[in-house]
Parts: sequence; structure tokens; C-alpha cells
Amino acid sequence: MFFNLSHNSFYTRGFAYIAKIKTGGDYRSRSWCCHVCNQWHDDLENYFDKEIAVQLEKSKGNKWPDIIGNGHESSFRIVSQRVLEVWEMEGIGTFPCFPMHVSPPFPKTLTTEPPMYFRLDYKKMVGVELDFEASGYVDAKICENCGKFSCNIEKTGNLQHLKIFPTVLKPETWSGQHVFCPKQPERMTFCTDKVVDCANKYGLTNFDFTPFEIGDGIGFKGVDYSTKNWRQKLPEQIRKFEEEFYRFTRTEQLPVVENT
Ligand SMILES: [Zn+2]
Repeated sequence: MFFNLSHNSFYTRGFAYIAKIKTGGDYRSRSWCCHVCNQWHDDLENYFDKEIAVQLEKSKGNKWPDIIGNGHESSFRIVSQRVLEVWEMEGIGTFPCFPMHVSPPFPKTLTTEPPMYFRLDYKKMVGVELDFEASGYVDAKICENCGKFSCNIEKTGNLQHLKIFPTVLKPETWSGQHVFCPKQPERMTFCTDKVVDCANKYGLTNFDFTPFEIGDGIGFKGVDYSTKNWRQKLPEQIRKFEEEFYRFTRTEQLPVVENT
């Protein structure tokens, strides 16, 4: 059983949140645009060999989460030291990562010192290929110059607005790791149900696990892993999500009646 792994800062309350990544001065000035696909490459992509420093959202948070949300680049996976420790202890694995410093000032409501955080190096965690078409991407391409993924954003948006697409892997390409990333699009992170069990067992906070059958599930509030029987509760959670999705789809996309 596979899941999209992310932070859940939009549906949880009280957790610190990263407003800004500040490292190496103005890294934006070193971003570059590929002349073939016209996509921007953020210099932060190449900051894995360096420690990065971040600044928190001033008005959010009275506790430190185990996976911290990030307004600069929401798909960076930044986890606490405790996550890495329990992942190792439970046989989930050890993963390439770099320390990340949270600099003061902290929100007034946050009175404890931050744990050590680490940013997972997704470039070294590639362990699967996505089936783009089955996952609902239209005209998916990999740029021959820079290797970056692109698709027809408008057509993809329209299609995914009509129907829930699952996340579909090419099974023979899976590395067998419990936490892994696709070759493209970069920066998605996947995991197995063992990782969800682990989050339940150790009470790890602020994780968003979205089951593959509903893709990245925009609007899905994440598996309720606070209880041991999260598996039994999941079908009902998915059913409610689907019901809500198609309720909006139906009201917005009324069938066009042609005059004959
Ligand atoms: Zn390119």
C-alpha cells in the first residue's frame, strides 16, 4: 500500500511553519531558465551539500512538528531528528539528508527550542518511475536538455478537475524502499504503509499521508493515523473525499445540452 508523503500544515493547527529559506545570500539571483523547456531551476535544488537556514512564520505555531511545512517550496521534506531515529529503529531505513537550522526570532507562542531538522535529499532517493498518463498528466515530457518534467498544465488541470486520478507507478521500477521519490516529477515523495504505522506508533506529528488511489488528493486531509486502526477507517475517509470531489464537479460542470 503506497502513499504520497507530505506535511499537513494546512489542516493541522499549532505547528511552526517555515516562511522563508535564507541561505547563501540571495540564491534567487542564481536561478536559471532552461532554453529548451523554458522552466526555471531554483538554485536551492543544488543546496543539498550545504546546510540551509530558515526563518519561521511569525504568527504560526506553539509546538514543533516532526515534519515541517514550508512556504517557499512546499515539497521539500524536512523532518525532525526523531523521525530519522524511529525510521532507522523500525527498519524503514536511513536516508540521505542535511541539517537545517531554524533561526530566531521564533513566534512568541513557541517557547521551546527547536529539535534538529533535516532536509531529505530527494535527488538521492529516486526509486521509481511514474506512469504519467495513468496518473492523469496530459502531454507529459522530460526535457532532453535539463531533464525536468513538464506537461500541458491547462489540459492536465482540466482533466484532473473532472475525475480523481490515482498515482500510478511502473511497478518493475520500484526500488523496494519504504520512503522513495520518483525520477520525475522531482520532489514528490512516496512511502509504504509501514511508514504510516510508524507515525502512529511513535505519535509523529504533522504528516500528510494520501493513499495512491486518490493521487495527490488536493483537499484530502490525510490519513487519520492517530488511531491504530487507521486502515479500517481509511475506506470511509476516501469515500467522503470522493463524494465531496464529485459533488463540486457535478455542480460546476453541468452537462451542455445541445440544441438539435
Ligand atoms: Zn529544460
